[in-house]
Amino acid sequence: MNVHVKPTLPMLINGQLVASNKTFDVTNPSTGTTFTQCPDCTKEQFEDAVAAAKEAFKTWGKTSYEERKALLEQLGARLTENADTLAELITLENGKPLAKAKQEIAASVFWLKGFAAVDFPVEVLKDNETQRVELHRKPLGVVGLILPWNYPLMTAMFKLAPALIAGNTIVVKPSPYTPVTTLILGEIVQDLYPAGVINVLSGGNELGAWISGHPDIRKVSFTGSTETGKKVMQSASSNMKRVTMELGGNDAGLVLDDIDPKMIANDLFWSRFSNNGQVCVAMKRLFVPEKLAEPIAKEIVEVAKNAKVGDGFDEDSEIGPIQNKMQYEKVKAIFDDAVSKGAKVLFQSEIPESDGYFFPITILTDVKPGMRIIDEEAFGPLMPILTYTDEEEALERVNDSEYGLGGSVWSSDVDRASALAERIESGTAWVNQHPSMAPDIPYGGAKQSGIGVESGRWGVEEYTQMQVVSVKKT
Ligand code: NAD
Repeated sequence: MNVHVKPTLPMLINGQLVASNKTFDVTNPSTGTTFTQCPDCTKEQFEDAVAAAKEAFKTWGKTSYEERKALLEQLGARLTENADTLAELITLENGKPLAKAKQEIAASVFWLKGFAAVDFPVEVLKDNETQRVELHRKPLGVVGLILPWNYPLMTAMFKLAPALIAGNTIVVKPSPYTPVTTLILGEIVQDLYPAGVINVLSGGNELGAWISGHPDIRKVSFTGSTETGKKVMQSASSNMKRVTMELGGNDAGLVLDDIDPKMIANDLFWSRFSNNGQVCVAMKRLFVPEKLAEPIAKEIVEVAKNAKVGDGFDEDSEIGPIQNKMQYEKVKAIFDDAVSKGAKVLFQSEIPESDGYFFPITILTDVKPGMRIIDEEAFGPLMPILTYTDEEEALERVNDSEYGLGGSVWSSDVDRASALAERIESGTAWVNQHPSMAPDIPYGGAKQSGIGVESGRWGVEEYTQMQVVSVKKT
């Protein structure tokens, strides 16, 4: 498919679409070829964007919830109008199949509507003859949003929508691997929002560091790796910025001994391989009872045989390439490490012959701690199957991780599974599914998987400052 993309795309600063004197290449991961250049934001342009956001906040911060809601809904309508173009751009820059990119647009609009429905009327905590105490929620000011590459529009919407509905102005930076969709978003909102309310900048990691360290930015909302998250927190401390950190995960799925392998094989497969395994809450370690290990593995392989890996623009592709070369090398190194330490390759899918970053869907057994695939976050299409004989011991191994994003238990007895799920040390624990998310359900990580949550009123609260107004009446 020939997708028309301008040779260079502009950023949005103070309501103006602007170029930069430097650019960087953006690559289609299905072919390994460059298809456009994006502006590499200069320090001066970044300062202009923050100054514009600060100025715009003086007015935007005083708008009513109804005004902000109406604009957000219009943004949702514009995303829907532009859905086909946006989906093609997501496929081009991220690699995921077009049908999945369309689902990402629809989900982004669905979430946007969820955020638009969140209001914070003043809460009266106490009102008697002597005093009245009210709880107000106020916007913070300028908020910096730093995004990853796995869901370019969705991760933008998870942050931009709650920040705006709460009355903040924003400076948003996409991943340098997938800047196109976010820059187009800038074009879409240019004449919708007052100048300076939304500023869209593109650039490398240095731009992210400028955001997290800027004294006029009051909060940073970051989605990315735990390693980078630590750097962001460190520099955010310079002016006591609020932080929301959505970081890495090494989620486990724990299958109990009462299940029918055939019944759950399809769900287990997609829990791991959806978006080519490049999902923070993908099920990255699968624990199965020893006596069921063989039939479970066999049924998962049956599903894997039918999952087609290919260029996102090929209609029958269900799984695309790894999004970038660096990530491809990392996944390959984790695979090589496991095999060199004795892991057995149970299945590897076919991949297209291409200069793109295709890695086979890979299912491994005989895996153990000490292998990177178990100890680290493997952000790609690798499924390690681990066996256990004792449920309690299995739960200990599930929790033996610095991460704590999600986790799941699979059983024909939901009460039995729920009791175990509650004991997983994670932000979310699922039963008979992995993952499942909704705009009115908070989502966030325990341990080193994050701080704070996204989604629902709890997600919007993160973009507000609580203020108690306490009045003595007599
Ligand atoms: P990354 O940490 O490499 O980059 C994320 C963003 O941070 C990019 O925009 C990058 O340019 C920027 N950045 C890099 N160095 C920076 C610095 N020093 N200061 C400020 N910003 C900086 O992550 P990635 O490779 O883009 O994404 C994959 C990771 O994201 C995985 O670990 C995945 O689990 C995680 N993730 C988490 C969630 C979640 O909700 N918990 C969702 C999606 C992805």
